[in-house]
Amino acid sequence: MDRVAGQPVRTAHHSPGTVTPGSSVEAARLLATVYHRLLQTYGPQGWWPAESPFEIVVGAILVQHTTWRNAERAIAALKGAGVLTPPAIAALDPAALAALIRPAGFYRTKARKLQTFARYLLARYGGDLEALLAQPTETLRRELLSLYGIGPETADTLLLYAAGRPVFVVDRYTLRLLARLGLAVGARPAAVQALCQAVLPPDPALYNEYHALIVRHSVVRCQARPRCHGCPLADLCPSAGENTPGPVHGTGGEMSARLAQ
Ligand code: SF4
Repeated sequence: MDRVAGQPVRTAHHSPGTVTPGSSVEAARLLATVYHRLLQTYGPQGWWPAESPFEIVVGAILVQHTTWRNAERAIAALKGAGVLTPPAIAALDPAALAALIRPAGFYRTKARKLQTFARYLLARYGGDLEALLAQPTETLRRELLSLYGIGPETADTLLLYAAGRPVFVVDRYTLRLLARLGLAVGARPAAVQALCQAVLPPDPALYNEYHALIVRHSVVRCQARPRCHGCPLADLCPSAGENTPGPVHGTGGEMSARLAQ
């Protein structure tokens, strides 16, 4: 039996057309093998790099449309100013908040997003993020999606990394890598997520590590022009060798994937 993170993969039914070609058995086997290869190659990624759930929320908003390095600079500025708390962010002058988070780009929009979240948290939950995150997964997802600035990818990121729910995060890297591997070609993110959650054990720690490894692999090797020479997935990948510019070196390492951007 194929296993991933010490647990058996599943062969649950998934919607027709979400995986091509083959069955859920093949999808489960491929996803388990990809996980083991990526973990062996890159090691544990240590996501999400934050000191508190609220910092994860702030980071998930600040990293939209930019690199983690830029988001980190904005978070450091908030910490340096002593305002990385819901009440402080809610009370800040919008222009002052925007100035602090300028390194993350789209700073006026992101300031509004941060204040929307902080003010909602204060008004609805008295600033208690744990109370918000304690809700059932689908209720929490709907509530997060109702807030300005939180779309499906950010909501899923918060469900997994802040709330610890078994929600497989599907971003552009996930879509590209799985399509190149022949899985879920052309499928929508929700269908890819359904497939992954149908065949992988519902383990938040596994989903945490798997997403981080996909990002790592996509940043250092399986880029828009993939560097297939020496890829740990090459023998599994129908796309190996297409548009390959040449060998890549130094792909191992302890830095988290987004820190490599
Ligand atoms: S072989 Fe190439 S296309 Fe396939 S996963 Fe590796 S880098 Fe990506």
